[in-house]
Formats: sequence, C-alpha cells, structure tokens
Amino acid sequence: MIVNVGKNILSVRDRNRKWYLAHRQERLKKMREYYYAHQEKNRKYREEYYRKHKEEIIKKNGEYEKNHREQAREYHRKQYWGNKEKESKRKKRFYAEKREEILKRQRERYWMIKSKVVNMLGGRCVRCGATDLKVLQINHKNGNNGKEKCGVKLLTRIFLGKRGIEDLELRCANCNFKYEYERGRCGLNNTPQKRYYRKMKDKVVEMLGGKCVVCGIQDKEVLQVNHKEMDGKFEEHRSGNMLYQDIVKGRRGIEDLDLRCANCNFLYNSTSELGR
Ligand SMILES: [Zn+2]
Ligand SMILES: [Zn+2]
Repeated sequence: MIVNVGKNILSVRDRNRKWYLAHRQERLKKMREYYYAHQEKNRKYREEYYRKHKEEIIKKNGEYEKNHREQAREYHRKQYWGNKEKESKRKKRFYAEKREEILKRQRERYWMIKSKVVNMLGGRCVRCGATDLKVLQINHKNGNNGKEKCGVKLLTRIFLGKRGIEDLELRCANCNFKYEYERGRCGLNNTPQKRYYRKMKDKVVEMLGGKCVVCGIQDKEVLQVNHKEMDGKFEEHRSGNMLYQDIVKGRRGIEDLDLRCANCNFLYNSTSELGR
C-alpha cells in the first residue's frame, strides 16, 4: 500500500511538472502580468508593513548579522563591489538631497552626547561653576601634551563607555585660558617675540574698551578680538598678531571689531549658523 501511495504522489508530481513545462511561457506571462498589475499596491503594502514593524525588523536583522557575522560581511562586500559605481552615485545623491537634515541630526547627536558626558563629569566648571554646555570643555587633569584630542571622538568614546573619566575634568573656556596662562604656555613669559605681540594685543584690547562687550569681564587673558559681522574668514590677516600690529600702527581701523571673552564667543558662535 505504502509503496503505491508513494508511486501515486510521484506520478502526480510528474504530471504537474509535465503540465508546467508545457505551459511554461503562458504561466510566466500571467505571473508577470499579475506582478505589474499589483506592483504599486504591493510596494505600498511593503512600505506600510516596514513602517509598522520597523523596530522589530531592525532588531531581527541586527541579531542575524551578529550571529552570522562572516556571511553578513561577505554579503555587504559583494553588494558594495558589485554595485560600486551605482552605489557611490546613490550615496552622493543621497547626501546632496539630505545634507541639511544630516547636519542637523549630527548637531543634535553632538549636543546629546556632550550633555550626557558633561553630566557624568559633574556638569559645571571646576573653577568658576559655569554650567552652560556651550562654554564647557573637557580637560586632562594632569595635562595631556597633545596626545589625545578633546574633540568629538573623545566625547563619543566616553559616551560609549570605551574610556574612563577619572583623569578628566570640566573647565569653561575662560578658565581654560587662565589656566593655560598660569602654566605659562600661552607665552606670557616666553620669547621676546611673544612678549612683543603680547604688548600689541594689550594695546588693542585697551583701544577696544578693555572689557567683554557682553558680560563685562576684564581679564586680559580671556579677551578676544572679533569681527562684529562674523566675516572673519574674509580678513586678509591670517594671524591675530598681524592684525594687532596693523591696528596699533594705524594701518587698520577698529570700527568693525569688538571684544568678547572666550565664553561669550562660544555662546555667540553657537547661536550663529557657523557654530555647532
Ligand atoms: Zn570657569
Ligand atoms: Zn563675556
């Protein structure tokens, strides 16, 4: 009996197969027609489905990639090299279209990470107690000698838990400048040339009123010369020193300049579109 059943199944399958092969073109044509007729509907359905189950799908894919790391890598590699030109074009178009959005998201992410890290580090300048995110900077307690840059990368590494914070502390921009001066790195007591330019800067600071136009702080170390209209990039002087010299020697007016301290500069810059 069992053998017979098996035979029957086989023969049914054979028959189906024969029929399929005989009507193959017809079938394919019908399938194609069906596909095109319902293309739009199907795409909508898939999009809708993806939107509804987005989190789930992403999680599932992520898990799959984690468990099949080698296969996933191989797949991505093939995808990339197989469609390299297409892919790079697509990327370029994508970035061109969404540039603003991407920058905005980067900015948001930056501030999110910075606020978390600043909170971890106590949330205020260890010297003056300033709490504004925009002026707070991360510093190495015992100096760093330029080995590790205190930029976005450091923030991200702390955020991801890849780096400890025991040797770090927060200072605001103003306190940082003062600190550097106390340590003698900004040239108060260094070479004659530096002393010369120091004098120049002091004169310029005096000419410009001697205090921050926003908060009124008078500490020379933290005061900076600014272009009122934020068009510093068009200034032909590449270095501040040359600018100071020109002002002192009367080769340049000071109508378009003003003084702000480092903190107020950061606050000002981050409200303009140039800032982060
Ligand atoms: Zn401070
Ligand atoms: Zn100020």
